[in-house]
Amino acid sequence: MPELPEVETIARGLAKRVTGDIIESVWLGQKKEPLKSPASEIAATLEHGLIAAVHRMGKHIVFDLERDGGVARALLPAKGRRASTKRKPSKTTSGRASAIAPSAAGDSARPTQTKAQWIVHLGMTGRLQVCEPRDEVLKHTHAILKLSSGRELRFVDPRRFGRLSVASTGFDATGIEPLEVDLVRFLALFHGRKTPIKSALLNQKLLRGVGNIYADESLFRAGIRPRRRASTISREQFGKLFLTVKEVLKEAIALGGSSVSDYVDADGKEGFFQLQHRVYGREAEPCLVCKTAIRRVVIAGRSSHYCPKCQK
Ligand SMILES: [Zn+2]
Repeated sequence: MPELPEVETIARGLAKRVTGDIIESVWLGQKKEPLKSPASEIAATLEHGLIAAVHRMGKHIVFDLERDGGVARALLPAKGRRASTKRKPSKTTSGRASAIAPSAAGDSARPTQTKAQWIVHLGMTGRLQVCEPRDEVLKHTHAILKLSSGRELRFVDPRRFGRLSVASTGFDATGIEPLEVDLVRFLALFHGRKTPIKSALLNQKLLRGVGNIYADESLFRAGIRPRRRASTISREQFGKLFLTVKEVLKEAIALGGSSVSDYVDADGKEGFFQLQHRVYGREAEPCLVCKTAIRRVVIAGRSSHYCPKCQK
């Protein structure tokens, strides 16, 4: 599952590639799960939208769109206004070209705002690919956005935990951005909580986007056991954790930056250069600091890894 650094890397890669492009038409697949907003609303919001920016919020990728409803409507051929949401992608170039048609949103459903947002959550296996139209349409493609540059932006998701939605403006993921939070707010979020610190770190209503791997790695570097109740952790230790959470996320983002294009384009995660884990996934292996065997415990249904000597 992509975590915050991966999503940040993907968002940056997409920003480089598609900012300034215009979404000419949208094809949406038949599967309902990936569509968090109604298909007609997604299509009506995206079509003819200029991609003004792409950025990350928590683990969401947010496309800021600017639209000019009047011009877009005038350019839309009347016979093109038919439902395009019930068709399956065709494997052939010619078949697919005809499958991409403006949606049947109609004038009344067309939003009047000039700004809008397209929000993508990749879930477990979701990918956004910038493709040439001739590139094979992969199985499990749920959305194809035809861009004015001639390329296509496709959403592919075999397991269908990913979600596509639209918002007028001001989409706000819950929680506070871990790279932006200051120490005072960080302390206020966790101080006095009776839950294990690991569960609190994973709670998206507190910090958004800190996943299992980076929670374990941050706790190791701060010398705090994942099961420790937040209420028993000193201010000084919290001060350390505040720094290590940012440190591991920033390191992972810096590493990911070098393989942006591979990740966005390629199918699979092969190209993604990961942070070397010090505890995560290293059960029974020697601690890199003290050589004690790393332990694994399950907290709130998630595997947690720690060094029993380095972490208290
Ligand atoms: Zn150790």
